[in-house]
Order: sequence, then structure tokens, then C-alpha cells
Amino acid sequence: MTSMKTTAAGQQTGRVTVVGSLNMDLVIRAPRLPKEGETLVGRSFVNVPGGKGGNQAVAAARLGAQVAMIGRVGNDDNGRQLVAGLRRDGIDCNGVATDPTLPTGVAMIVVDDAGQNAIVIVAGSNGALTPAAMAVYASRIEQADVLVCQREVPDQTVLAAMNLARKHGRIVVLNPAPVTGPLERGWLESADFLIPNELEASALSGVPVESPESAQRAAKKLQQDGARNVIITLGKRGVVVLTEGDRAGNGGKHYLPAEVEAIDTTAAGDTFVGGFCAALAAKRPLDEAVRFGQAAAALSVTRAGAQTSIPYLHEITL
Ligand code: ADP
Repeated sequence: MTSMKTTAAGQQTGRVTVVGSLNMDLVIRAPRLPKEGETLVGRSFVNVPGGKGGNQAVAAARLGAQVAMIGRVGNDDNGRQLVAGLRRDGIDCNGVATDPTLPTGVAMIVVDDAGQNAIVIVAGSNGALTPAAMAVYASRIEQADVLVCQREVPDQTVLAAMNLARKHGRIVVLNPAPVTGPLERGWLESADFLIPNELEASALSGVPVESPESAQRAAKKLQQDGARNVIITLGKRGVVVLTEGDRAGNGGKHYLPAEVEAIDTTAAGDTFVGGFCAALAAKRPLDEAVRFGQAAAALSVTRAGAQTSIPYLHEITL
């Protein structure tokens, strides 16, 4: 087994900039997920820092990247706690603005005994992260090795960030999550790597994704629609990768993850994306970046919570 830390490239030190959401996760554990109209008695409650942007920033930082966060919190305790938490992970938060009136975003997450989850998000200040902010914090985007965005901040803001990064030859990674409607024109083309999960890939491609084979078909459809490199995450079935080089007709590649006992899959996708970006920013080959992201994500599902479950570089072996 080779530790990422001791491979030839040494410590990962690439620069990753995240444009995205910062939420406080209100996490309830319950025997199962509630049905419509049902009141369930839960087992426990805890506040945990989250948001796809924040989670991916923390993942990239713990997994070896120098990370800058661009986002927006409210002028409240949740916002201050989130920024303090990011700073503890060594993340540059000078691109995180404070909204004078809107509250910090929150996500209510119910996790059942099988480790499955259901989530409701209220955007709050994340919804007021504007395209103009991308111009204010442009240097962080222009100087990143990798820019990574999700869809928990306004679409136009994400598009502005991606276009700025591409103009400066940066690598752009888009995790089109959650599914909040069709992608605007130009989105697929603007990302070097599109990383949806099964649900997002199904919604974006129109091909129901329920197996590695159907994921290959969905990835191909997304490429026909303009996507460059597509990585579809399939939970415990791993990922399917279809690169621009595969466009000619060779199928993509399926990577199985390590077999682990999952107790909480919250932030598995975020850990994969953050780890993948950290490895890519450190100029690692695509194949290695995928395996690194998977190894980190597999570890994260064995632990509870979102950011609390994200592992550190020294824990990862490939
Ligand atoms: P999301 O959290 O966005 O729904 P997935 O559930 O597809 O994302 O998980 C992302 C990645 O995390 C997977 O591709 C896989 O590498 C890893 N993963 C998720 N669940 C498991 C599991 N039960 N065992 C091992 N790895 C897992």
C-alpha cells in the first residue's frame, strides 16, 4: 500500500478555491426517515457546520490543498461559528462576506439507523452571493489551480465564477448539486469536470441512473450535451468516469470503492469532490485523483456527521 503522503509528489499543496454555500446543519438521528405527515421521535440532535461549499472546502483542506473560500454568511452566531471552523482547518476566509440582514443558511438533516439521510435546506445568505462578488474576489479564482462550485448559491454566480476561472486557464470542477432545475445554457461547457451523483446525473441527462452501465449511458448523454469530463458517483457502487478522450467511443471506467461499514453517508459526495480537487490541484493524474477521492469518501461514511466525518491526508492510503 502506498500512502499519498509518501508518493513521489510528496504532500499535496495545490490551491483550491471554493465558491459555494455555508450552512449550519441541524442533524437529527432517528430510527428511520419520517413519511409525509408523520411525527417521529428522534434519538439525538446536534448542530454541525455544513453546506456543500463549506464541506468541500474542508475536505480539500484536510486532504492537502491550500484552500480559499468565497461565500456569504449572516451576521449571526451560526455564521461566526462556520467561519471560525473553516479557519481552524486553515482555510482562507477573507472571501467570505457577511450579509447585514439575511440569516446564515441552514440544513435540517435526518439520518436513519441505516445511514441514509433526508435533507431540507434554507439558503439564507447563500442566496445573496452575487456575480458581483466574483469580481471582488477575482484574484482568488484567477490564481487557483482548481475552482470548485456547487448549486447551493445562485446559478448566475456559479456561471460567473466558472467563466472567470476558465478565462485564466484554471481547472473548473462543477458538482451540480442539489438538483434545483435544469442547468443554464453554457454550464456543461464551462466545467472541465462535471461530478453529479446518481440523482443529479439522472435529472440532468434524462437517463435513469441505477447501475454503472446506466451511469455510462448518462455520462455519454451529458457529453453529447456539451460536458467535457464526467464523473458520476454511485454511492457504494463507486464512480464511473468518462473523459473527453473516451468521447470517440471507448467506454468510460468504473472504479469500485473500498468495502466499509457505512454509518452515515452525509457528505460522502463532498468528501469525494474535495479530495479529488485537492489531488487534481497537486497535478496528480486523473486516475490517482479519482482513487484518492474514493478512499477519502469511503472513510467518511464510517463516521458520523458532515464536516466531522471528513478525514485528513495522513489517514488516506491508496
Ligand atoms: P452523494 O453524497 O453526493 O450522494 P455518493 O453517495 O454517490 O454521493 O457517494 C460519493 C462517493 O462516496 C462514492 O462514489 C463512493 O466513492 C463513496 N461512498 C459512498 N457510499 C459509500 C459506501 N457505502 N462505501 C464505500 N464508499 C462509499
